[in-house]
This record gives sequence, C-alpha cells and structure tokens, in this order.
Amino acid sequence: MRVCNMENRLERLWSRFAEGNMLRRLIEERFDGVFLIDCATGEIRELGEKFSTELRAGRSTMDGVPYDRQLRAAMECHAAEDDQEMLVRMLCLDSVRQALEQQETYVVTVDTWRESEESVFCKRFVFHYLDETRAMIAVTCEDTTVGLRNETDTLTGIMNAVGFHRRVQEWIDRHSGKKFRIQRYNVDRFRDINGLYGREVGDKLLRDLARHMRRFDRGEDCFSAHLSADHFARFCAEGTMTMQECYDNFNSCFADYDLSIAITLHIGVYDLCETDCDASTMSYKALLALQSIKGSQAQRIAYYEKGMMDEERKKGELLRDLDDAISNGEFEVWFQPQVDFAGRELVGAEALVRWRHPTRGLLMPGTFVPLLEQSGCIHRLDWYMLEQCCRYIRRWQNDMPGRHITVSVNLSREDLDRPNLCDKIDGMLARYGIGRDVLHLEVTESAYVEDTLRVMKAVEELRGRGFIVEMDDFGSGYSSLNALKDIDIDKLKLDMRFLSGESSEKGHIIVQFIIGMAQALHLPIIAEGVETREQAEMLQELGCREMQGYYFSKPVPAEVYEQMLRGITKIETL
Ligand code: C2E
Ligand code: CA
Ligand code: CA
Repeated sequence: MRVCNMENRLERLWSRFAEGNMLRRLIEERFDGVFLIDCATGEIRELGEKFSTELRAGRSTMDGVPYDRQLRAAMECHAAEDDQEMLVRMLCLDSVRQALEQQETYVVTVDTWRESEESVFCKRFVFHYLDETRAMIAVTCEDTTVGLRNETDTLTGIMNAVGFHRRVQEWIDRHSGKKFRIQRYNVDRFRDINGLYGREVGDKLLRDLARHMRRFDRGEDCFSAHLSADHFARFCAEGTMTMQECYDNFNSCFADYDLSIAITLHIGVYDLCETDCDASTMSYKALLALQSIKGSQAQRIAYYEKGMMDEERKKGELLRDLDDAISNGEFEVWFQPQVDFAGRELVGAEALVRWRHPTRGLLMPGTFVPLLEQSGCIHRLDWYMLEQCCRYIRRWQNDMPGRHITVSVNLSREDLDRPNLCDKIDGMLARYGIGRDVLHLEVTESAYVEDTLRVMKAVEELRGRGFIVEMDDFGSGYSSLNALKDIDIDKLKLDMRFLSGESSEKGHIIVQFIIGMAQALHLPIIAEGVETREQAEMLQELGCREMQGYYFSKPVPAEVYEQMLRGITKIETL
C-alpha cells in the first residue's frame, strides 16, 4: 500500500492511533515497535506507544531522538557485547539506505545470546520507504523471541538446525534465481578434545566457534548455525564471503587457540542452487561433500558434485541389506596364507571378508567396509567375522590335532570403542575353547593416528589381557613412527605396497631401515603385499621371515585354505 502524499498518510496514521482503532490494535498486537526515520534529520518519529524496553533503552519517548544514537544505546543495553558492533553496523541508517537502494524491503533478524542471563533476544526489523519521495523510512520491529526459542541452540545461543533450514528456505523463496552457498563445517578431532580436556572445555570451544561464526553474520544474506555436536553451518548469498575468506578467517581466529591440539576443520560446500531440493537436502549435500574429504590433510574444502547423492543412495541400500546379509550368511571369510619364507612353511592366515551379494555378485571389502565404518555398523560385521573365524579354528583344531593354527582378524577403530570389548572377545574364545594366542587382532595404523588416545587405551587393555595385537598397514600412513612410539604392540605388518612408486634401491633402503628398527625394538615383523620373488628374497636377506602376498597366494575361500592346512594343496612359490 503506497500513498503519494506522505503528510496525508501520516496524519491518517496518527488519527487512527488516537482513536485506538483497528490499525493501532493490529500494530500493538503484532509488533513491539513501529516508527519512522526522518531521512533529512535522521531522527525518529514514534508511532504508537508500545515499544519494547529493549528499543527504548531507558527512554520515555524516542520521538525526535537521532536514530543512530538510539540504536547504539539500545544495542549497548541489550545485545551481547560481542554482537554490538556488528548489529549497529547492520542496522545503522547508512546501511539501511544502502540496502534500500537495492531492494524494496530490508529485513534484519537480530538474535543475540546474552550469556549473563542465559537468554536469547530475537527481533526482526523490517525497513522500507514510506512512499516514493523516500523522505521517511518506516520500521517495524517484531519480537520473535518466543518463536525462535525452538530455533536456537541452547549451548551456543546461535541458531539450530530447525532455524537454519527455515531461514535458508525463506531466503530462497524471497530471492528466486539468485545464487547462494551452504557450507558445513566440521571440527577435526573434536572427540579427542572432549576426551583429553573434558566436556566443559569441549563446550567452551563450541561456544567460541559459534561466536566466531556469528561475527561474520550479515543479516539475511549470511548467517550461521550450530547443527549438532561439532557440526556448524553457514549460509552465504553470492557476494558476501568467498570460501577462502571463510576458511582463512577461521584459521586466523583459531591459530593461537589455547589448547595443545590444533583446532582445524574441513568444510563441505553446496552451491548448485537447484530448485528441486529443499534447504535441509542442500545442507545434507554440503555434508556429503564434507564427508568426501574427511580425514584428508591435503584437502580442506570440498564442493558437492552431481552424483554424490546417488552414490549415497546406493550406499544406503547396501546398509539396508546388511541385516539380511548377516542372517542369510552372505558374508564369507576368505583366508590369505601367511608364510615363513625362510622355513618354507605356512604359518597362519589373515581373515578377509567377502560379500556374496544376491544381486551384485561377489563384493570386495573396499566397496562396503568403509561404508560400514562411516555409518557405525562395522562392529556387527567384525563380530560376525570373529565368530566365523572361531568356528573354523575350532573345526580345524579338532580335525587336525597338533597342526599349528593362527588367524589374524581385522578390527576397525570403532570396534575398539565398544564397551567391554575384551570381555566379549574373551567370552567368544572361551565358548569355542580357543587360546588367546591363536586369534591375532590387526589394528590399522591410521586408527592410531586418528584417535591416538582411545586406541592406545584399548590396545593396552587388549594386550593386558593376553591378546596379540598387530599394527596393520605400517608405513602407509603419515605418522607410522609416531604411532609406534606411542603404542606397545606385538607385531608389525609392513605394507610393501606403499613402496610401489619408489625405485627399487630406495625401496630397499626404506625396508632395510624398518626391519632394522623392528629388530632393535624386538618387534616381530611380517611383510604384506609381497608380489614378486625379488621382494621375497630381499626381505629374507634383510631378516624378515614372515610374509603374505599375491606372490604366495591370493586370499582364498575357507575350503581352499583348509586344503593348504592339510598339506593337500601346496603353495607353489614356497
Ligand atoms: P588389509 O587389512 O590391508 O588387507 C590386505 C588387503 O591386501 C586385502 O585386500 C588383500 O587381498 C590385499 N592383498 C594381499 N596381498 C596383496 C598383494 O600382494 N598385492 C596387492 N595389490 N594386494 C594384496 P581386501 O581383501 O580387498 O581387503 C581390503 C581391506 O578391507 C583390508 O585391508 C582391511 O582393511 C579391510 N577388511 C577386510 N576384511 C575385513 C574385516 O573382516 N573387517 C574389517 N574391519 N576390515 C576388513
Ligand atoms: Ca589387515
Ligand atoms: Ca594391511
């Protein structure tokens, strides 16, 4: 509704207020403040009597007071200290006028968390010119605290997922065709921080992160939220902040954070602006991008790419199939022989899973193990594998008394987190009457790096109980030596494949060094991924007797391995 004659309109408004008619009631009920800013003088012209105490900032009337001054006073009284400057910058007359050059209405939602009172203060300001002469700006102020309470995260005081998705949707509806970006932030090793320093420190870090995120909020066009645990999100309309700026800002703020663990993060970005998906789907797509680089040291920012969602769906289907797969016995244990090359004999095997999927055929662990690890389901598979291994071992020990049998099984990091792990494995071995030295447990080196403390504790406990723990994939990760320094283990599995790019001379030196180091530490060592006679001979020369790899045998089904144990099938290269 636009009226050309401003004075006329004002008069009408005033008289309506005076009569206490509909409009006044409407305004009083709906808004907790309606006023005009005189563009010539910058002063406030009050409409109606009802103003929230927040806006009045102790005044009995705001009529005639310079708007910018009143704004500052109101913010100083009521907004959190950290937010004041940003809010004043966003709401000052210059900013309002600038915004109104570009758009018909300028909407600013102010939500600030007052730590002292542990309460949120939420106001929604809507600015627009009263008419074409642009002499007066009309401002309505609505208290949205009650509505936003459900949309505010109580720990950090910033928006939660509900609020975030609603505001993203609102923005998209209001700015159709415009470009934007949704970012998901995830703090690295947050679990370690909680574990090392305690929950209070973890919570404080989350609040500091929230405060950092909020510092860069720019009203409707750029806002952030705390979604859950160590997940944050930010919405940016095009032109607000570049990805690199976001990342650099974060680093400059947290470079000197007062903890011995470096605070770093990964960011996933969704910027395709497809119209066929809603805000929470877009945020999920940003998360998929984030997950695609989880744990990567080299890549910190990833963009959602078409197809990621389909891949995720397929993974979802596999996960859904998991229950049936276990109960239908679709998982098979295959065994890859381990040999003593010098003594020319078979000494054991590593158990490796295969999934005989009813429609997709025989699946290799690479297609489903990482997926089960990500979704927290791997323990179910590993548990099944442990039990199957126990069955085989029991059977072979019965059938071949006196035959030395050892089997190594793979544990994932998540297995080590499970409560009563030692008791459970112990119980299982007892049920099958198997000694603790028969079933070896392989823990991959990267698990130590990802979650050193927890893994250290779990490994210590397992070894304390008499289990044999092997460090898998030694040499393939970044910090093999660190892992070795921090954790006591029973055996090293040196992965030969990590040498594949090296010249044979260089490879020789590295292997020599590792074997020498293991010997000095009195650590038994087995080389895996041995593919050629040259490799096997070199290893033997350097003093490494135990080996596993395609040169001797690929992983084979249990029946085939059984024939090897019985000596019926020979390993040709031995
Ligand atoms: P891993 O523990 O490092 O297992 C060795 C992998 O190397 C196996 O792949 C094996 O087939 C392959 N391999 C053995 N010798 C050679 C060789 O000479 N050359 C080459 N290029 N490869 C060789 P696989 O069976 O595909 O298993 C892959 C990974 O999946 C395993 O790596 C392990 O991390 C995981 N995995 C397998 N079974 C299980 C399981 O039951 N539980 C868990 N948690 N993880 C498993
Ligand atoms: Ca392994
Ligand atoms: Ca390995």
